[in-house]
Amino acid sequence: MRKAEHPSRRDFLAAGLAGASTGILLSGQPTLAAENTATAVKVRYDELLPHEFRKRLAARPIAYLPLGTLEWHGEHLPLGSDAMQSEGLMVQCARRFGGVVMPPIYLGPDRAKPADDGRMLVGMDYAESTTPPRQLDGSCYWVPAGFHLLLVDAILAQLKRAGFRAVFADGHGPSRSSWVENLPERQARFGLKLFGVTREISRQWKSQVDHAARNETSLMMHLRPDLVDLSQLPPSRATWPQGVGGADPRDATAAYGKECLESSVELVRQMFTAAGLL
Ligand SMILES: [Zn+2]
Repeated sequence: MRKAEHPSRRDFLAAGLAGASTGILLSGQPTLAAENTATAVKVRYDELLPHEFRKRLAARPIAYLPLGTLEWHGEHLPLGSDAMQSEGLMVQCARRFGGVVMPPIYLGPDRAKPADDGRMLVGMDYAESTTPPRQLDGSCYWVPAGFHLLLVDAILAQLKRAGFRAVFADGHGPSRSSWVENLPERQARFGLKLFGVTREISRQWKSQVDHAARNETSLMMHLRPDLVDLSQLPPSRATWPQGVGGADPRDATAAYGKECLESSVELVRQMFTAAGLL
């Protein structure tokens, strides 16, 4: 997630893989990789055999769509942090409530404008925390909003054809916003029940609600501690980390990440229950 025009509010989403209770311990800590082992219940679309797919679809015809990016998330987080968080949350939801998790989308919309030298600046490239504004290393996800709408439309059409009746999508802030804005119209057009981090629940939602700051860093420390390197951040509190929006990531903890993730899983449960899906 990232800080957009309203620094007081975060609009991203996120999520994660489960905690130590379900993961295999590698170097003393559970990792997303551990969640992928044969000991865990398979919920990822691309891993399912047809008979496994049929069983999961019949039990709970819900699909989860992680809205990711390949985007600068500070010097301390991996470029794929958005997909890892949203997919991580969705894997937990699928294991607890049923359903199937789609492969993440790594392309997404964002604000963009040409810099003085004619190069295009995107999203966090010209956030307040990026001084001077510049192309941040590794960001490689931007597509026009219309392209993203068509891409998600195509995925929804395929999910409908495959037999799903409901879809929950969330992730990268601008992708989340696009999803939520178009939710009623798509619901009518595709005949699917669609769920996202709408205005009604955004105040309570605690996943991907900043950009590479305390929230996203904590989620990543919970989900993929092997990919987080806080030593890459400036050691002095007087120096703000570049391209980071929100509370100080140097205050992040895996425990807080787990708390945020669990809180979001519970909100998804409430949404599904209210809709009669559980
Ligand atoms: Zn993010």
